[in-house]
Amino acid sequence: MNKNVELITELADAFGPSGFEDEVVNTARRYTKELDVYEDHMRNFYMKPKNFSGKKLHVLLDAHSDEVGFMVHSVRPDGSLRFTNLGSPTLVTLASDKVRVRNDRGEFIPGIISSVSPHYAKTSSANAGAITQINQLSMDVGATSDKEAEEEFAITMGEPATFDTTCEYDEEHGLIFGKAFDCRVGCAAVITTLNRIKDMDLKVDVSGVLAVMEEFNAGGAQIAAQTVKPDLVICFEGCPADDTIASGSDIQTRLKHGPFLRHMDGSMISHPRFQKFALDTAKKYGIKWQAGVREGSGTNGMKYHVANQGIPTIVMGIPVRYAHSANGITAEEDFENAVELTVKILTELDENIFETF
Ligand SMILES: [Zn+2]
Repeated sequence: MNKNVELITELADAFGPSGFEDEVVNTARRYTKELDVYEDHMRNFYMKPKNFSGKKLHVLLDAHSDEVGFMVHSVRPDGSLRFTNLGSPTLVTLASDKVRVRNDRGEFIPGIISSVSPHYAKTSSANAGAITQINQLSMDVGATSDKEAEEEFAITMGEPATFDTTCEYDEEHGLIFGKAFDCRVGCAAVITTLNRIKDMDLKVDVSGVLAVMEEFNAGGAQIAAQTVKPDLVICFEGCPADDTIASGSDIQTRLKHGPFLRHMDGSMISHPRFQKFALDTAKKYGIKWQAGVREGSGTNGMKYHVANQGIPTIVMGIPVRYAHSANGITAEEDFENAVELTVKILTELDENIFETF
């Protein structure tokens, strides 16, 4: 396993539903030993190369450290856990997913999301096919009563949980299977880019942030915008691929077709001149790229582009099939091309180009 894949898989396997990103930050720390790092009280994790001057145009590389997950709402008398969502997990695939619940002692308790076995499908009120709301499901850690769940398992309301999936690497095809690539593959790209440029003499200053709570309310990015006050932002994303769910000319985000730069989504119109500069840079260096027009959803860009005096922002998406579910697919080469394109953008950028934005 090469260094990039090792970083992506360790970050993706880390526990980090929105608001509980501690393990992601701890993992990131191990890969940023040659950078100056700082963590705020929300667990936003800031990184700077040691040659950061503070005097040049400042480009911030952002990725969100959280993933979609769950919070225990209440313990039912039978010991099962009613839960709600943190962010928007794919509802239809939840039944029977493996999860990890962090208990009051900080331990991880294995569990599964309930399903209705065929033996009871006709008689149960919780017919699996009829599930339309998350509160019809339960998480089950195997407790037999509410008392046991609370006393033996130390699980009560407010405990966070997320999918229990361990990455698998198909080296022959350059593919990684796992959870939380949205946005841990982006976190890995920010860290890898900063480590690549840390000794380069660029015309811009570059820093990075792994921002918390994007899936919930993008609060981490709002804090980062105010704290860092960058001039430009590149938001990395593990962006949803549509190549197996759309057809014909509707397909815009394909696996193994390079980083995906959206012209807009439901939260932001990407800065058109920065976007053009980024795409022109990809063409100039012959780096694979793809672009598209997202009709919904959003990124941390929603907070940055309207922060301070207005910050030109673009999104560098690394395609992820089946984002927000327990099992997704991402391609090593898309990660590498995203990092390569970003390094080239940072190499080309200067004050004069910024003035034309
Ligand atoms: Zn995301």
